[in-house]
Amino acid sequence: MTDTRVPAAGAQATPVGSPYFAYRDGVLHAESVSVADLAERLGTPLYIYSRAALHAAYGAYRDAIGSHDVLVCYGMKANSNLAVLREFAKMGAGFDIVSAGELQRVLAVGGDPSKVVFSGVGKQASEMRLALEVGVKCFNVESIPELHRLSAVAASMGKRAPVSLRVNPDVDPKTHPYISTGLKENKFGIAIEQALDAYRNAASLPGIKVVGLDCHIGSQITEASPFLDALDKLLDLLDLLAAHDIHIDHLDLGGGLGIRYSDETLLSPTTLLNAVFERLLARGYGDRQIVLEPGRSLAGNAGILVTRVEYLKHTDSKLFLIVDAAMNDLVRPTLYDAYHGVLPVVPRTDVVTRNYDVVGPICESGDWLARNRDLAVAEGDLLAFESAGAYGMVMASNYNTRPRAAEVMVDGANFHVVRSRETVAQLLALESTLG
Ligand SMILES: *Cc1c(COP(=O)(O)O)cnc(C)c1O
Repeated sequence: MTDTRVPAAGAQATPVGSPYFAYRDGVLHAESVSVADLAERLGTPLYIYSRAALHAAYGAYRDAIGSHDVLVCYGMKANSNLAVLREFAKMGAGFDIVSAGELQRVLAVGGDPSKVVFSGVGKQASEMRLALEVGVKCFNVESIPELHRLSAVAASMGKRAPVSLRVNPDVDPKTHPYISTGLKENKFGIAIEQALDAYRNAASLPGIKVVGLDCHIGSQITEASPFLDALDKLLDLLDLLAAHDIHIDHLDLGGGLGIRYSDETLLSPTTLLNAVFERLLARGYGDRQIVLEPGRSLAGNAGILVTRVEYLKHTDSKLFLIVDAAMNDLVRPTLYDAYHGVLPVVPRTDVVTRNYDVVGPICESGDWLARNRDLAVAEGDLLAFESAGAYGMVMASNYNTRPRAAEVMVDGANFHVVRSRETVAQLLALESTLG
């Protein structure tokens, strides 16, 4: 696919993802800070986040919620930098966590444990213990063996663990197979046909207190219908549970709202939630609390990844831009075949536009970041990958002994380095030889 949004040399490229990244006087800015200046000062590759964009994304949920009882638990695996978490905590968000490590991040930023839901298929006893000690809102339990382990851990502490069962409603979220989680054939959740038995089992266990019902059907969803199909199935299940005297306080609809990577038509929180509220009222469940676990839609468009062009390499069949970022910095393209817009930080008019594959220096053919992009660039130029605020830095690795990128958060005309660039010395420090 050719990136038609980056026009021929001379015209201005237009960022799509977020109004907080825009050109001013011919230079890409993050809010009021020049991306070129940040790259000069802090080096590349560099993740840049916009505080205002994070606030705007959360604001879209707050506006959609109005006076309804909805708890937004940020799906923090999307971007768990402490500065990002702190902004969401200050705005009143809860957190959806998938490990004890993530729970410690919540505590480190002063997040409220009573607004934390603990998801994930492989919770360890030690993780359960920590979550019970600090008092999380709910465990989203994904299997019967997990239910039994949780009951035993809680009982040994003289507690009852608040639990939702994550059911798998078997709906197709119409997204990439790797980010679809609500179909029968994947590892997540308990099949909805087995949910009644599982809930009766849960209600009989000494260390368990049933409080909710949970699902999460996938990610980068841009239509309401998969959410509403799942909701209908959950409401049928609520009817069935009520008939068996099992009461559910809250309904957790998971995360999954999509963001703009290229030309997607988005589903807004308002459109989704209005439809949800309508369905709940119609079915007599207007009094239930709703929990949402958005990750990508809160952080994704609030970040870019900036890289510098090392080489222009012409082969017989292709033109390559070899840049200093790689699959270890942003794995989504090679992992999911994901598309990220590529913008020149300082668009230029003095070189011809050519069609390039943008690739990194790692010794893997899979190390590509963008394909078939029309760009007017020269060696040493800076490029920005758009919509890199979610599932970017969190998935970074040290493959090829590449220190991970620095992260910086812009706030108006100011910026704060929120994670220093790693050093090779730090990478080597944990290793030792046999002598
Ligand atoms: C990943 C995940 C989320 C967040 O998903 P997004 O698509 O980023 O909104 C929420 N809940 C669970 C259980 C998840 O695994």
